[in-house]
Amino acid sequence: MAVAHIAMPVAAWQVFDYWVPEGLDVAAGDVVHARLANRRYAGVVTGTSASNASGVALQPVEALAGVARLPHELLALASFVSRYYQAPPGLAYALLVPPIVRVRKRRRAEAVDAQRASPDSDAPTLNDAQGNALAALVASEGAFGVTLLHGITGSGKTNVYLAAAERAIARGGQVLVLVPEINLTPQFAHRVSRALHGARTVALHSALSSGERRANWNAAADGSADIVLATRLGVFAPLPRLALIVVDEEHDDSFRQQDGVRYHARDLAIWRAQRRNVPVALGSATPSLETWVQAKRARYALASLPARADPRARLPAILFVPNRSGDVHDGVSNTLAQAIGERLARGEQSLVFVNRRGYAPSLKCSACNWQSECTRCAARLVVHRAPANLRCHHCGHTRPLPRACPECGNVDLLPQGFGTQRLEASLRAAFPAARIARVDRDTTRTRAAFANVRDAVENLDLDILIGTQMLAKGHDFDRMTLVGVLGADNALYSADFRATERLAALLVQVAGRAGRAERPGEVIVQTDFAEHPVYRALASHDYARFADELVRERRAAELPPQTRIALLVAEAHAEADVGRFLDAAFDCARELADAHPQVEVFPPVPAAMPRRRGYERAHVLAQSRGRPALQAFLPAWREAIGRVPSTRVRWVLDVDPTSF
Ligand code: ADP
Ligand code: ZN
Ligand code: ZN
Repeated sequence: MAVAHIAMPVAAWQVFDYWVPEGLDVAAGDVVHARLANRRYAGVVTGTSASNASGVALQPVEALAGVARLPHELLALASFVSRYYQAPPGLAYALLVPPIVRVRKRRRAEAVDAQRASPDSDAPTLNDAQGNALAALVASEGAFGVTLLHGITGSGKTNVYLAAAERAIARGGQVLVLVPEINLTPQFAHRVSRALHGARTVALHSALSSGERRANWNAAADGSADIVLATRLGVFAPLPRLALIVVDEEHDDSFRQQDGVRYHARDLAIWRAQRRNVPVALGSATPSLETWVQAKRARYALASLPARADPRARLPAILFVPNRSGDVHDGVSNTLAQAIGERLARGEQSLVFVNRRGYAPSLKCSACNWQSECTRCAARLVVHRAPANLRCHHCGHTRPLPRACPECGNVDLLPQGFGTQRLEASLRAAFPAARIARVDRDTTRTRAAFANVRDAVENLDLDILIGTQMLAKGHDFDRMTLVGVLGADNALYSADFRATERLAALLVQVAGRAGRAERPGEVIVQTDFAEHPVYRALASHDYARFADELVRERRAAELPPQTRIALLVAEAHAEADVGRFLDAAFDCARELADAHPQVEVFPPVPAAMPRRRGYERAHVLAQSRGRPALQAFLPAWREAIGRVPSTRVRWVLDVDPTSF
């Protein structure tokens, strides 16, 4: 009796055995339907054997799911993900499975989110710096190699990717392009289709319907797609002719999956490129420190694009203005207001960036200092208008705006600080004739809504755009000559050791929206800490030096990328349950200390957000100089933790965590 070993999509640390009915052709890589605890799942066959070694009665494989057999390379990737990230194998293998859809009739290729190049397309001509970058990228053509393409905003990184992609496709290869934002893919796809003759591009991201995703996945799997343009989940797409991987904006946090299996798509892209022996290009104006140190150690090739590609474009002038009362009205400084006024007079556009949605980050009583807090989270409730209420941005809890202070009855309640809605109100009051739009998650939930704003900016139907970091990424607007940045100082108070790195990346990206064409750009940052290194780096347009400085700091503080870390994160309704569990898990680590002398484990501490959605949260941090030492320690620790009583506790190991 043939037996199939199946990774079932459940949180169990094992694969399950099923017998294969006569006449069913089942092999490793097949996606099949089978039952577990009376539920039907699609599982991945990891292998087969000729007989049932266990002696227990097995359930049958019910049917093939009708998905192309997954190649061995992807099974190896899932197995690596399970091992490296300490994830249950079934959940790791589930990342490989495309949406299972009932296909009623054959879709026509044109019906999917796919584009073929128009015949009048033209490949871009590269400038010298781009040519050198391309040379670095293709130096390892046909073999594994990582190239960091460090190019300032507007330096023309995309054209370098396209030129490299064109060569790969001409040699019969497929190209995987990973991008952080779903909203960016239509624009990118458009550029690809214009630049590359006859190349077929398909998109893979979670905003597609299951049918579209499945059809595009099939096009990747059967080799008919030349370019697969995808968000992080695309790193698991089958690509039989894979010849090049591009990770655009490689520093972006959205490549990190933050729940379920916590993988990093950039890191997996590198792993996969190595397996397939193909080059991988990481592009960014603000590379992650993890990538930066590898380039510095010459483990990655480094190609720099130090100037804007458009010869007319100049780097924006950067101006810092303090938040002094008297100079600031309704959150907006006189300097910024005047600059916006000048843009309006010249028919140019302004972008005002504040990384907080809602009206104000909190509501405060002027008499007793009471502040609106969420009952389920350690967080302030955010004041919203239209509809007017208090909202928790962590659990979604909403409450009506109180008419008086619940503590002392005072009716004078003051919104604290500025969110996008409040900024919109103050700019509408200051510039009644201006056409203003706000872009944040409240106004722009859908791709269509975002596309509408884009079109309005492009058609010059808008004068002022207000928004959160949704606006920071990759958009290219010719007439946008002014960028205002408000409230950025908040990040300087963060407990997260990556806060300044993230702020610098964000500022450079936002500033990069100004003056991309012939009109010079200006950036006005409202800050009380203009001498802070993060702002100095922005002013000097020298991210490389700033990155070097941060690397030195991290080295001194023994933080990543100098060290490797993993977090054991636990949460429960009762703090005592979390404490007991983590104390026991910490003891487990201490018992392993002799066998793993290079790994240091720290006693339990509360999480950066100690309460969320009614759960008390804390963690234990394990750290090591090298990746191998930590990787050797984690499976042993995980098994020991698994024996700790944890009925009321939810826990997860977060390897290479990006948030705390
Ligand atoms: P990045 O991705 O590095 O921010 P883009 O690839 O979006 O930059 O390029 C910025 C602008 O420069 C775009 O408008 C692009 O068309 C233009 N551009 C790119 N390469 C060249 C070139 N070689 N000559 C002239 N313009 C270019
Ligand atoms: Zn009060
Ligand atoms: Zn909450």
